[in-house]
Amino acid sequence: MITFKGVTKVYERQGEKVKAVDNVNMTVEKGEICVLIGPSGCGKTTLLRMVNRLVQITDGTIEIGGTEINSLDSIKLRRSIGYVIQQNGLFPNMTIEENINVVPKMIGWDAEKMKSRYKELMEMMGLNHEEYRKRFPWELSGGQQQRIGVARAMAADPPVMLMDEPFGALDPVIREHLQNEFLRIQKDMKKTVLFVSHDIDEAIRLGDKIAIFNRGHLMQFGTPDDILSNPKNDFIRDFIGSDREIKRLSLLTVKDLLKKVAKLGRVKGNTQEYSGDVVMLETDLRTALSVLLSSPTGEALVVDQNNDPYGILSFSDFQTLTGVHPSKLQTIVR
Ligand code: ADP
Ligand code: MG
Repeated sequence: MITFKGVTKVYERQGEKVKAVDNVNMTVEKGEICVLIGPSGCGKTTLLRMVNRLVQITDGTIEIGGTEINSLDSIKLRRSIGYVIQQNGLFPNMTIEENINVVPKMIGWDAEKMKSRYKELMEMMGLNHEEYRKRFPWELSGGQQQRIGVARAMAADPPVMLMDEPFGALDPVIREHLQNEFLRIQKDMKKTVLFVSHDIDEAIRLGDKIAIFNRGHLMQFGTPDDILSNPKNDFIRDFIGSDREIKRLSLLTVKDLLKKVAKLGRVKGNTQEYSGDVVMLETDLRTALSVLLSSPTGEALVVDQNNDPYGILSFSDFQTLTGVHPSKLQTIVR
C-alpha cells in the first residue's frame, strides 16, 4: 500500500517557484495498478519520482506499507522499487542479460540465481533467452527494448513498480500488445503499480484505479467505472471525452450484460443453424456492440469457450444497461 498525505512539490527555477504537485492525498492498495493521468506538465512524473526519492518532497509524506519513505535509506528504497521509463533507460554497453541483472547483481545474488531469474523473466516477456542473451539493446526493436525495461525493473521482484509512460513511444498495435502482456503478468505478480499515462484508453484498460491530475491537483480518484459513470466536474468530462458511455462498455463483457438483463442460460432450440454473427461470453461490450452494428439482424449468438451457444444478444440489451437508445449508440460507437 502506498499512501500520499498532503504531498507537495515546489521547484525553484531561476528564482521562480513552480508548484508541480499540490497537496495530493490518495492511497494505492497493495497489488493494484493505479494509473496517473492528466495533461502534460500536470506533475505526474514529479509525483512518481518522489516515491523513489529521485525528487525530494517539499511538503507532506509518502508511506509504503506504513513506513515513511524518508526514514529509509534511499539506495535501499530504490532497490525495492522497480522503475521503468519511456526511453527504457537500458545501458547501451551492456548485453540484455547484464541489463536485466543489474539490480540482482548489486544486491549480491549468486550467478546461478541470476541465470535462472534471467531465463524466467525472458519467458515471461515472450522472448527467447538464448537468442537475446548476448545481444545489445540497440539490436532490438522498440517494443522488445521496452519489454526488457519492464523485465529489468522486475528482476529482483520488488513489491512496488513505478512506470512512467513505459509504452508511450510505441505504435498503437505494439502498445496494446504490451499492455495485454503486462496485465497477464500482473495477474500472477500482484505488484503495487503506479503507472503514468497520457492516454485515457490505456488508463481504462490497465487501471484498477485512475488518478486524474490537472496543474498539480488530484482532480478525481476512483475505479475506471466510477470515473466514466460519474465524472466529478467539467475538466474530467472533457478529459475522458464525450464517448464515455462507449468507453465504459470496454470494461464489461457480454457475460456481465447478459447477467444484468437476466438473459443468461442456455438457449433452447437448434442454434446450430443460427446464421447471424457470433460473439463470445468473454468478449468486451465495445467489441460486441460493433458486431451487432454490422449484423443485419441487430442480434448476435453468444457462445461459451467450447463454442456452445449461450444466448442471444440484441440492441435492446445494451439500452437496458446504458440507458442510451440504440440509435444513439450507433452514432457514437465510431
Ligand atoms: P508531467 O510528467 O505530468 O508532464 P512533470 O512532473 O514533468 O509533469 O512537470 C510538472 C511541472 O513541474 C511542469 O510545470 C514542469 O515544467 C515543472 N518541472 C518539472 N521538473 C522540473 C525541474 N527539475 N525544475 C523545475 N521545474 C520542473
Ligand atoms: Mg512526465
